[in-house]
Amino acid sequence: MKKILCVGAGFSCAVIARELAEKGHVITVIDQRSHVAGNCHTQRDDETGIMLHVYGPHIFHTDNQEVWDYVNKYGEFEPFVNRVKAVSKGSVYSLPINLHTINQFFNKQFNPKQAQEWIEKQADLSIEEPVTFEEQAMRFIGKDLYHAFFYGYTKKQWGLEPKELPASILKRLPVRFNYDDNYFSHRFQGMPSKGYTKIVENILNHKNITVDLNTCFDKSMVSQYDHVIWSAPLDSWFDYQYGRLGYRTLDFEKVTDEGDFQGNAVINYCDQEIPFTRISEHKHFSPWEHHEKTVYYKEFSRLCAENDIPYYPIRLINDKDLLVKYVELAQQENDVTFVGRLGTYRYLDMDITIAEALVTAKKLSESFELNQKVQSFYYDPI
Ligand code: UDP
Repeated sequence: MKKILCVGAGFSCAVIARELAEKGHVITVIDQRSHVAGNCHTQRDDETGIMLHVYGPHIFHTDNQEVWDYVNKYGEFEPFVNRVKAVSKGSVYSLPINLHTINQFFNKQFNPKQAQEWIEKQADLSIEEPVTFEEQAMRFIGKDLYHAFFYGYTKKQWGLEPKELPASILKRLPVRFNYDDNYFSHRFQGMPSKGYTKIVENILNHKNITVDLNTCFDKSMVSQYDHVIWSAPLDSWFDYQYGRLGYRTLDFEKVTDEGDFQGNAVINYCDQEIPFTRISEHKHFSPWEHHEKTVYYKEFSRLCAENDIPYYPIRLINDKDLLVKYVELAQQENDVTFVGRLGTYRYLDMDITIAEALVTAKKLSESFELNQKVQSFYYDPI
């Protein structure tokens, strides 16, 4: 039996804590915030009763049966399909780019084959292996769609020219030649009927787990435990000795109103001149509920400063160089394991976070049983 400290009460630590608690280990989870669930935190609005995604929209989607079963064990899910709309130069389109978007944008009536041929004519086929975001866009959708939907939004979201960003960011989004306007291509998609925070609370509800909220980590805590699971920022464990890894943070402007503001959960604003990236109207994330009032958030992205909440790892060349140095330090550690979005400095969807946490918990548990050295870093962060 080991005594374990988990720093951070998001999905990573909650899942690891639960899995280790089931094996008989004793876990303390601390979080500096007043709630569990990290940036997935949901809370009913006092004024309207609407379930708010306090740190921005989270839609659960996965292809992983084990992960889907896992979350469904700890909370009920309602069917939900994310259908995003995008405003560009005064018109409203469907995203991700699909046959409707293409026909509307080019004012055509293409069938799937014609649309594919048309897009191939727009694309720059001389780009064989796209490296940058811009090359990926020019190669697969061509300059008109790129400028209408991606150039301005991406500059606002990342604060950089798309030619400075990696192709991997755009690869998150599909291009479809049918009318499927589901933002995600995964087999399972849904929204927890009582919110994400309830699910994380349920995961943490075990006799071997103690949760201390409003509790900041202090290095002096470490000596009381056999092992630490660290889901706070990787560089903060090392007191930022090589400097800070770069993140984008988000500012939200909240508006409460009557009725229905935009008729959809998420509308993206792709033009550079509009200062926010998107508006999310949260009652549409719970379409099975009825609310007379509404709450919506305008979302603004900017560089994360010292006291801001880190959201998106930027992961440009200089960040990656820094990351390599921190990973080298991390690998020399014996009694700490780095996990999750902040602990491994990767942009992770919830399902991947949970899948990795399950693997980490299994490996930790085996190492504890065999009294082996525990690896501090399980994933290739590059
Ligand atoms: N993107 C864009 N326009 C949009 C939506 C997305 O340019 O209307 C770009 C943007 O750079 C974003 C990336 O595509 O970071 C990936 O989109 P996704 O919806 O996965 O963004 P995230 O979940 O990271 O907010």
